[in-house]
Amino acid sequence: MPDWPVHLIVPLLALLIVSRKEDLKYVFLLLPLALLPDFDTFAIQHRALLHNMFIPLILALSGLLIMKYRAIFLIASAYITSHVLLDMFTGGVVLFYPVYNGMAFVDASLMMSQTNNLLWTFDYGFRPYAVGWKTAYGYISDSTGTGAMVFVLAACVCAAYRRLREAR
Ligand SMILES: [Zn+2]
Repeated sequence: MPDWPVHLIVPLLALLIVSRKEDLKYVFLLLPLALLPDFDTFAIQHRALLHNMFIPLILALSGLLIMKYRAIFLIASAYITSHVLLDMFTGGVVLFYPVYNGMAFVDASLMMSQTNNLLWTFDYGFRPYAVGWKTAYGYISDSTGTGAMVFVLAACVCAAYRRLREAR
């Protein structure tokens, strides 16, 4: 998977760009939902049980039907959709779980070879749901991810401190 800071920061930025000012509190409150799909690791159904299109779809439809909580449902749907999409670009997800067990994936990269040639990869489709995903140990955070999160947390502490001082 992409590191969990990526799972948090990408949809957060996107939602900060598109959200109305009055919905910003939900953008921040619902942020943990961006990590929720990875809890399917504990059910030994990683990249399947909570990494499918049905959960965000139901949330989005609820948002369209229930006017009163529209923003909440749509923001929740956006967080989970972004998680599923990002994982699709890094290995794949069982997008139609439990209806169809293939892993939908997209490989798209642009690299520079040693002879300065540009190598463009673009591939997509379905691959079998490999057993390795069911017991995806050690994916929680690598060193880069932890470092990135420390940086973001430090910024949050500074912002909170400044607010406290301004409030006094
Ligand atoms: Zn994931």
